[in-house]
Amino acid sequence: MSELPIQRDVSLKALNTLALEAQAAHYLRAETVAQLRDGLDWARARALPVLVLGGGSNIILRGDWPGLVLHVALRGMVECGRDSEHCWLDVAAGEPWHPFVRGRIDQGHFGVENLALIPGTVGAAPVQNIGAYGVEVKSLIKEVEILDRASGELRVLNAADCAFGYRDSVFKGALRDHCVITRVRFALDRQFSPQLDYGPVRQALGEGPVTALAVAEAVERIRRAKLPDPAQLPNAGSFFKNPVVDAACLEALLGQYPAMPHYPQANGRSKLAAGWLIEQAGWKGYRHGAVGVHSEQALVLVNHGGATGADVLALAASIRDDVAHKFGVELEIEPQVY
Ligand code: FAD
Ligand code: NAP
Repeated sequence: MSELPIQRDVSLKALNTLALEAQAAHYLRAETVAQLRDGLDWARARALPVLVLGGGSNIILRGDWPGLVLHVALRGMVECGRDSEHCWLDVAAGEPWHPFVRGRIDQGHFGVENLALIPGTVGAAPVQNIGAYGVEVKSLIKEVEILDRASGELRVLNAADCAFGYRDSVFKGALRDHCVITRVRFALDRQFSPQLDYGPVRQALGEGPVTALAVAEAVERIRRAKLPDPAQLPNAGSFFKNPVVDAACLEALLGQYPAMPHYPQANGRSKLAAGWLIEQAGWKGYRHGAVGVHSEQALVLVNHGGATGADVLALAASIRDDVAHKFGVELEIEPQVY
């Protein structure tokens, strides 16, 4: 094993978008698969826990990390094939997501435009099956290459193996803490076919021609107007998943709240808007010390400065209890807690 550039006692504050202060006992920025493998071996030899880190935009740090933070910084992208409909691209896990989206539009590769301005890395996109404005990344993924943390072997999973669900995948389930995603193979469209199911995107597009660039720019305008920029007001995006309820629960709620937004899903179930429930419960704009609920979007918890992971999780628990009490609906935290 060549000398690994492992650092000691590294602050993670600038490496998580909630800006939670936490120290990594050991930190390695891995730019190659060999460094990832060596970092995993190094941690295993010392029985240290490993936290795999991308852009830090979907994690909550409870406190200091006693083991190794393995920062995935693999870069690069190659086109690996095309037919009349699709273009296949292999993209390294450490590529930043939004520049990837913009670069695809410039190159005439379509399907990603509704996912503009999502923070984070390409390698984390399959973990949460990122989604926005009616598009989920699972519809664009052909394969995911992983490094098995125990054996050090590279394996390729097809889309079915990834068990993608609503903001969910095998990487949050059976494979959590068992692999590092090293590369994602995307199958992008060569013809543009706009997805305009979400009203705000249609409205923001206005009267001009509907191009992929226009859709991406419309999405970016909505997001900039509504979501806090983590660089200005630290946050981890939507804090809770939208709950999916059965028909009986929906009927009971609509009896009491006829204006409640709801969206039909498969097998007779319906998705509710967690942000609406939290807002109705009176939490929008709430602040307690360093933590609060964003004033424009109740689904986003924010760090006004100096908050700890415990502060954020305590606020989340209060919101969850209150929503369960008022609506009989359980909210689930979306980011990964460490
Ligand atoms: P991290 O936060 O670093 O990690 C998240 C999880 O993935 C952790 O469990 C980590 O261990 C794991 N992970 C990261 N990289 C790898 C890897 N290479 N291999 C294995 N595991 C890995 N999400 C949406 O779905 N839609 C949105 O519209 C959206 N908007 C957001 C807006 C804001 C302002 C913010 C702050 C967040 C938003 N998010 C959204 C959440 C977040 O940006 C995404 O989930 C993103 O994909 C996380 O990427 P990351 O690189 O920051 O992951
Ligand atoms: P919004 O437009 O205020 O809508 C509230 C919720 O209603 C959304 O969460 C969305 O569910 C749902 N919704 C709205 N129109 C819908 C339709 N036509 N069909 C089905 N569901 C519909 O939401 P927002 O908070 O501003 O976010 C806009 C988009 O960006 C959403 O897709 C959201 O998921 C995504 N986003 C995600 C994060 C994150 O961290 N995960 C952060 C910011 C924004 P869905 O969430 O299922 O789409």
